Amino acid sequence: TYYAKETGKNSYRFYSRNMDSGASLALEQQLRKALERKEFVLHYQPKVDIAHGEVVGVEALLRWNHPEFGLVPPNQFIPLAEESGLIVPIGEWVLETACLQNKAWQMAGIPPVVMSVNLSPRQFKDGNIVQKVKQSLDKSGLSAEFLELELTESMMLDMNYAAETLAQLKMLGVRTSLDDFGKGYSSLTYLKSLPLDILKVDSSFVRHCTDNEQDAVLLKTIINMGQNLEMTVVAEGVEEEGQLEVLKTFGCHQAQGFLLSKPVPGEAIPSVISGIRTRFQAET
Ligand code: C2E
Ligand code: MG
Ligand code: MG
Ligand code: MG
Repeated sequence: TYYAKETGKNSYRFYSRNMDSGASLALEQQLRKALERKEFVLHYQPKVDIAHGEVVGVEALLRWNHPEFGLVPPNQFIPLAEESGLIVPIGEWVLETACLQNKAWQMAGIPPVVMSVNLSPRQFKDGNIVQKVKQSLDKSGLSAEFLELELTESMMLDMNYAAETLAQLKMLGVRTSLDDFGKGYSSLTYLKSLPLDILKVDSSFVRHCTDNEQDAVLLKTIINMGQNLEMTVVAEGVEEEGQLEVLKTFGCHQAQGFLLSKPVPGEAIPSVISGIRTRFQAET
C-alpha cells in the first residue's frame, strides 16, 4: 500500500501526473508483477446496432484485479504503463485474450460479434503491432473480420507511419476505428487521409444532445460527416433513452453506453446480449 493514496470513501489513487519517482517506480514494479500473476482482466461492453437493436460488437476494457484494492480502472494505471513501456506486453496480453474470448463465444454458438481492442500510442508505434495482431489471430483462430482496433488521434500525428500501418492492418482484414472523436484537437485531415473504418463520437457530444440545441447540431453534423465518408458511426457514453432516440433520428449506426450495458465480465456477455435483444424486440 505504499503508493495507493486514500482519497475518500472506498476510493484510492494509484496514479497521478505529479507522483514522485519513488511512487511511480513502486507502481511500475506492481504492474510488472500483476502481469506475471495474471491479475489483469478484461470486461466487455456491448455495441448495439441502433436500427435493428442487435448487439454487433463488444469493446474489451482492461481492469486490474488488485489483490488488496479490487478492480482498478484503466486510467489509474495505463498512463504509467504507457510511460514505462509496460503497456506493450500488457497490450499484447489484451489483444490475445480478447481474440481467444471472441473465438470461445463463437465456438459456444453465441451470435458472432466484432471484438474491439483499444491500442495505446506506444503499442501502435513500438510494438511491432501488425505482427502482434497477426499472431493473436493465428493463435486464437479468430477470423480477422471479427477484430477491430480502436486508435486515438495522438497515434496519427506521424501520418506516414499511421497510413502505412493502417494499410497493413487492413490487408490482414481487421477494421480500425478512431476513438474519442471530437475530444481533443480533432483533425479532419486524419479522416480525409487515413483508411479508418469506424468513427467513435466522443461521449461529450452525446451528453447534452437532448437539452442543448448546439450540442445536438454538432452531434448531427459529426454523424453526417462520418456517413458521408462511408464510415460506421458509433456514439459513446449513451446513458439515457432520450439520447438513443436522438441518435436514431440522426441516423447514427451504433450506440454504446450504460443505458445498454456497463462493461461486464466475459461470462456475463451471452445473457447481456440476449437481454438487449429481448428489450429491443419488446419495443417494436
Ligand atoms: P475508451 O476506449 O473511450 O472507453 C470508453 C470508456 O467509457 C470506458 O471506461 C467505459 O467503461 C466508459 N463508458 C462506457 N459507457 C459509458 C457511459 O454510458 N457513461 C460513462 N460515464 N462512461 C461510459 P474505462 O473502462 O474506465 O476505460 C477508460 C479508457 O481506458 C478507455 O477509454 C481507453 O482509452 C483506456 N483503455 C481501456 N482498456 C484499455 C486497453 O486494453 N488498452 C489501452 N491501451 N487502453 C485501454
Ligand atoms: Mg475505446
Ligand atoms: Mg472512447
Ligand atoms: Mg471516451
